[in-house]
Amino acid sequence: MALAIAAAAVQPHYVILITIDGLRAEMIDEPTMPTPFLKMMSRDGLRIGRVIGVPPAATYPSHTTLVTGELPARHRVFYNRPFLWNKDTARISYWWADSIAVPTIWQRAHEAGMTTASLFWPTSTGSPYIDYNVPEFWSLDYSCDQMAYIKPYCTPVGILDELEQNACGRLDNITYQAGSLQRDGRTAAMANYLMNHYQPRLMTIHLITTDYSQHDLGTMSQRLLQDVASADHAVGTIVENLRLTGRLDSTLLIVTGDHGFCDYHQTLSPNVWLTRAGLLSEQPGGKWQACFYGGGNTSFLYLRKADDRKTLRRVRRLLDELPPAERALFRIVEKDELTALGADPAAALAIEPVVGVAVTNARTGQVVEHKRGGTHGFVSGHDPTTLIAYGPGITPGCQDTIRQTAIAPWILSLLGINP
Ligand SMILES: [Zn+2]
Repeated sequence: MALAIAAAAVQPHYVILITIDGLRAEMIDEPTMPTPFLKMMSRDGLRIGRVIGVPPAATYPSHTTLVTGELPARHRVFYNRPFLWNKDTARISYWWADSIAVPTIWQRAHEAGMTTASLFWPTSTGSPYIDYNVPEFWSLDYSCDQMAYIKPYCTPVGILDELEQNACGRLDNITYQAGSLQRDGRTAAMANYLMNHYQPRLMTIHLITTDYSQHDLGTMSQRLLQDVASADHAVGTIVENLRLTGRLDSTLLIVTGDHGFCDYHQTLSPNVWLTRAGLLSEQPGGKWQACFYGGGNTSFLYLRKADDRKTLRRVRRLLDELPPAERALFRIVEKDELTALGADPAAALAIEPVVGVAVTNARTGQVVEHKRGGTHGFVSGHDPTTLIAYGPGITPGCQDTIRQTAIAPWILSLLGINP
């Protein structure tokens, strides 16, 4: 596996990093996939087939790795939602940029005097290093006007009104609904406006629609084809805008995903073992000694007292004594391996299911259920994403595999900043 991405022969003036949530190589390469722009960019640019993600390969830790080059153990965005010690974390996310414990590419570019911009990037809210920022952030009250709620967190003051008036039209729960076909195109319109009016040297953009149908319907569905077409069209309008404004020769576009996806046909809920053994309350907030928590398709074990070896021995015995049919559905990832992978140092061990099985955080009900859908968040690289670099100085060609941590230092070097 290559540790670094091939250097560009010419330094681009602008870098745009676009994530298509849940992007898999097949979504570009399969002839039946409606991705003419991505196919063209892959053919004419540098293509990296597999980008191996971080533990777990989930949206927030992965996006934070993309802008830091660090693993979760160092950047400290461990999941989409923090594990809050047996409290119900279902509706709380790592929204705030100050959750990130290391410097970001936004910070490094800003400190080098460059203008920066970002649209709907996870863990970007409140970043002082993003000059034009519409962060990914939402109200816990899902019935409210989400865009009105986000407005005070956008910078500079008034930027969302300006974008609505001049770029993307009024954004509301219909026109900008998460997972809708309208959304990614409107995000691209915002990106084009920012590029044309403020010329950010570094812009990060998160397109999200392709995540939703893959969770619900797996890696191949009619709906996915529609979602992929909308993401491809959004990227295409960004390329077209660069061409029409004369910036195609000075802008490097990087299109990648945060993680891939795998289909599942069974779910596994390891907390049910703990509640049955009296180690975890059935509802969040009750008594507990141990709790499995999964921010993706890996369940990490937390102990209420980190040095509670007695409880850890009980959990191990419980895992050893499972019926063979349940034990065959996962492997135990030991602490040493988690440390080497760069996962949350507070986890005592983890359970990684086999491909075809999805883990849940449920505490009651059946341990194993027959359900279908798509999942991601393994720690063993079963769900890689892919990458295209398209623009000046890029020699067309293919590179096999890189780690996601290689991308941020590469972007800094492209911008002439010492990584
Ligand atoms: Zn994602």
